Amino acid sequence: MKQLHSLLSILVLLGLMILPPNGWADEFVVYSTRSEQLLGPLLEAYTNETDIKIDLITDKFETLLHRLKTEGKNTRADLLITVDAGDLWHATRAGVLQSINSTTLKENIPKAYSDPSLHWFGLSLRARAIVYSTERVKPEELSTYEALGRLKWRGRLLLSTSDKIYNQSLVAMLIAEHGETITEKFISSWVANLAKEPFPTDTMVMEAILAKQGDVGIVNTYYFGRLLKKNPNLKLALYWPNQETGGCHVNISGAGVTRYSKHPQVAIKFLEWLSSSKAQNLFADVNMEYPVNPKVAAHPSVAGWGVFKASQQNLVIAGLLQDAAIRLMARADYL
Ligand code: FE
Repeated sequence: MKQLHSLLSILVLLGLMILPPNGWADEFVVYSTRSEQLLGPLLEAYTNETDIKIDLITDKFETLLHRLKTEGKNTRADLLITVDAGDLWHATRAGVLQSINSTTLKENIPKAYSDPSLHWFGLSLRARAIVYSTERVKPEELSTYEALGRLKWRGRLLLSTSDKIYNQSLVAMLIAEHGETITEKFISSWVANLAKEPFPTDTMVMEAILAKQGDVGIVNTYYFGRLLKKNPNLKLALYWPNQETGGCHVNISGAGVTRYSKHPQVAIKFLEWLSSSKAQNLFADVNMEYPVNPKVAAHPSVAGWGVFKASQQNLVIAGLLQDAAIRLMARADYL
């Protein structure tokens, strides 16, 4: 028995000696709204390079947020990857993320695309642009988001529904620029111009334009890219709005380290790698997005949609003014 005891003690001691430094691990857990299909190749590349395994759990944002809240200190999750600054702001407010101090992340990711309190960082960019029928609209006829409320677009505008976080974030950013009164006026004018009730998705907006139910709409660029990939002769084109004013609204997909991560250093190292030149194209190109790191060029097929000026307002506004945006859209009868 004594011998067994000493043997056990030696084993425990050996175990302690080979244990990695505090917070380090050869495996960590990611909760993600970004699908396995999009993240798979990236995680594989990281594991090949570092021998660190990544356990990926994907679900809807609301589900993952609820899970993080109820799991609390017992969560296995180290990193939350999701889309839209509005949702990342929600996660921050719910207290499930921690502030990260990383010089690499600060260097690689522009300030406008990361949380001022450092709870989340953008990893890729998507623009919310105007899409138009190349058969019935000339680009010279377009200018700004606001101008889609002009009389000439009566019965010709198509939008996705106001419960989409993409529209809530766009309206929040417009409120920051114009104030509520002016923003409400032109959101009401959009509603007056609608050719059809808002659609559940951006893709349906474009399909409706192709079906001649309307002529112009507002969509995230990668949905346009997906449609174009299926049909290279698509009779649609993107227009970059607000180039003479505040710039085209862009949003991010991004990530934050969970508040109760058991391996925060490992998760931060992974985030730093994601923001590096090495990984940025792997992350962005697969979803036809733009790299967030300005030193990295977009995939040629994405760059081919044209160069544009992006809004430089900090995306935290999308969260701060989200409730105001939702209320404003309701007042304007934007369904
Ligand atoms: Fe999307």
